[in-house]
Amino acid sequence: MRMTDIKSLTPGELRLYLESFHMPRYRADQIFRWIHVQLARNFDEMTNLPATLRTGLRESFAWNTLRMEDRQISALDGTQKFLFALPDGNFVESVFMRYRFGNSVCISSQVGCRMGCRFCASTLNGWERNLAASEMLEQIYEIRRITGEKISHVVVMGTGEPLDNYDNLVRFLRLLCCEEGMNLSQRSITVSTCGIVPRIRKLAREGLQITLALSLHAVTDERRREIMPVAETYTIEETMSALRFYYETTGRQVTFEYTLIRGVNDSVSDAEGLSALALSLRAHVNLIPVNPVKERGYVETGAEAVQAFKNRLEKSGVNVTIRREMGRDIDGACGQLRRRHILS
Ligand code: SAH
Repeated sequence: MRMTDIKSLTPGELRLYLESFHMPRYRADQIFRWIHVQLARNFDEMTNLPATLRTGLRESFAWNTLRMEDRQISALDGTQKFLFALPDGNFVESVFMRYRFGNSVCISSQVGCRMGCRFCASTLNGWERNLAASEMLEQIYEIRRITGEKISHVVVMGTGEPLDNYDNLVRFLRLLCCEEGMNLSQRSITVSTCGIVPRIRKLAREGLQITLALSLHAVTDERRREIMPVAETYTIEETMSALRFYYETTGRQVTFEYTLIRGVNDSVSDAEGLSALALSLRAHVNLIPVNPVKERGYVETGAEAVQAFKNRLEKSGVNVTIRREMGRDIDGACGQLRRRHILS
């Protein structure tokens, strides 16, 4: 039988477990604090617990940890890329970035991905498994332990499709934001999805205030299907309608991510189509020059053309930014560090 993963339990669940050990409620709260605030590395560090309780916990619960396998630090902007080994031998990537508004961590939500976007390195070897809530949290906690830095923003934009790991994702989000834990502001979290429509609607009803980003990348269904298999299942119209529901239910403005690929989605009519979609939802647009992945053969739009594309959107009244490229000198693109590692 697999042991319960203690780091994925909510404060309420942990209290119930401890009650079954005939332990008072304050013990559960102490343990939760050790895990999520003091970032204990093991049960032995929980020095205000009786030794017998620590032994009992060790015997009763699974303790998920990540081991740093590789770390790259950008000489350009201080971005740090981490490769973490999971206890089952799998690997995940996470990234630490410094911005003017604070430090941000980009985490992975799955080992591999089954969405199959053609320009993305994360999906080249397919999907291996979902990450537990604790394994998403630990990417942030371990980066805090290693760097000693404060983290004010979290983006779920690493390997994996977060809405394809829905229950663990929502559990992770609630743990990250709960008062008894790291207490991160929900508004400082962005979840990026390729657009699993029913899950967007479900997420809208969770009562969360997180930012949702849609990886749009094309403005016609035909073109989108060529680069994103998820477009075979959901049309752009259906996706827009789910996003409108998200916006209306949560009051949160949504973001479109749009990866510019030369000759594929960067024409004048693409800019016009994108403007129309963005204006209809009052969405913010984030343009990303595609990060070339050797196996994929796509080429990024040149810097001038990116600027022209942006200007077109702005002229139509769209709120648009060009994603600052972080850590170009290290294995920048999504999934490249992990991929290099599993191939070697
Ligand atoms: N599955 C989620 C989150 C992970 S990908 C999603 O699809 O949104 C995070 C973002 O990086 C997505 O917008 C994705 O399309 C983009 N991306 C993936 N590979 C890229 C590449 N080679 N260059 C630029 N952006 C890429």
